[in-house]
Amino acid sequence: MKKFKVLIFIFLIIFISGCGTKEYSKVEFLMDTVVEIKVYHKNKGEAQKAIDSSMEEMRRVEQKMSFFLPGSEVSRINKEAFLKGEKGSLLTERWITVSDELFSLLEESVLLSKLTKGSFDITIFPLWKIWKFRGENPEVPGKREIERVLKLVDYNNVILKDGRINFARKGMGIDLGGIAKGYAVDAAVNVLKEKDINSAMVNAGGDMYVLGRKQGKPWRIGIRHPRREGEILGIIEVENKAVVTSGDYERFFFSGGKRYHHIINPKTGYPADECQSVTIVAKEATFADGLATGIFVLGPKEGMALIENLEGVEGVIINKEGDVSVSSGLVSKIEYVN
Ligand code: ADP
Ligand code: MG
Repeated sequence: MKKFKVLIFIFLIIFISGCGTKEYSKVEFLMDTVVEIKVYHKNKGEAQKAIDSSMEEMRRVEQKMSFFLPGSEVSRINKEAFLKGEKGSLLTERWITVSDELFSLLEESVLLSKLTKGSFDITIFPLWKIWKFRGENPEVPGKREIERVLKLVDYNNVILKDGRINFARKGMGIDLGGIAKGYAVDAAVNVLKEKDINSAMVNAGGDMYVLGRKQGKPWRIGIRHPRREGEILGIIEVENKAVVTSGDYERFFFSGGKRYHHIINPKTGYPADECQSVTIVAKEATFADGLATGIFVLGPKEGMALIENLEGVEGVIINKEGDVSVSSGLVSKIEYVN
C-alpha cells in the first residue's frame, strides 16, 4: 500500500511538472537545412528568449564550421593548408593554429574514424569538391579524377597536436558536413539548458536532440521511410537523447538511372551503397551524427555490430534492399507504422 502511495505521488509530480507549460517554437533555414526548436515552458518571454539564443548559437557554429562559407574557420584552414602546401614543402612549415572548440571537434572526428575503420573521414573534402553535390548540375566525376583525389583522403594523414593541425600530404582539406550539424544541435541544447529549459526539441533536418520529456511523456520520434517521401517507417520513444539519421535521400542526383548521393565511401571515392538510412540514438548529437554517417558507409552488418558494442548507443539500419534492423536496446521502444 505504501509503495502504491509513493507511486501515485511520483506520478503526480511528473504530471504537475508537465502541466502549465505551453509549446513555443521557431523554424529557420540554417546550415543548409530547416532547423526547428521547440520548447515547453511556463513563461512565454523566457521561452522565446531561450529559443532565440539557441538559434543564434547554431548560427555561430555554422559560421565557424562550414566549409562552404568562405569566412569560416574551416575554410581558413583549407585555404591555408593549400597555400602552405604549395609554398612550404616541409611538414614543419605547414602547421595551422586551430581554435579550442574546433580542435576538440577534430579530435572527436578522428576518434569516429578509428571506430568506423575509416568509414567516417573528414578528409573527404577533395572528393567532395569534385562531386559538386551542391552545384547546379552535378555529374559523376571521371574515374581518373577520383583515383587522383583518393590519395588525398585518409584521416591518418591529419596530425593534431597542441591546438594545431597539419596535413601529411599537399592538397588535403577537411569537410565537417558529416558531424557539424550534430555539434550545432548539442551546442543549441546547451544554451537551452543554461536558460533553465528542461523540455525541448532541437531538430536540424533530421539531426535532433530531445531534452527531458514532452508534457510528462517520452518524446515520440518518427523515423523516415527512406523510399516513401513524407511517410514514416516507425516511431521510437526517447528522452534526453540525440536521434540522428543519415539517409541517401537527403541530397542526390540520378545519372544513367543510378542514384548518386552525398555520403561517400572514402575508400572507393563513390557514394556508399550498402544502406538506405541509418538512425543513431545516443547521448550526444555530435557523436550520433558522425557515427550515423560512418555506419552508413560501413554497412548494415558491421554497423549493427558496432552499435551493439558501444555503450549507450542504439540504432536502426535500413539496408539497400529496404530491410530494417533494430539494435537490442531499441526493439521494445519502436512502433512500426509502415
Ligand atoms: P546529412 O547532411 O544529410 O545529415 P550526414 O550527416 O550523413 O547527412 O552528412 C553528409 C555530409 O557529410 C556530406 O554532405 C559531406 O559533407 C560529408 N560526408 C560525406 N561522406 C562522408 C564520410 N564518409 N565521412 C565523413 N563525412 C562525410
Ligand atoms: Mg552525419
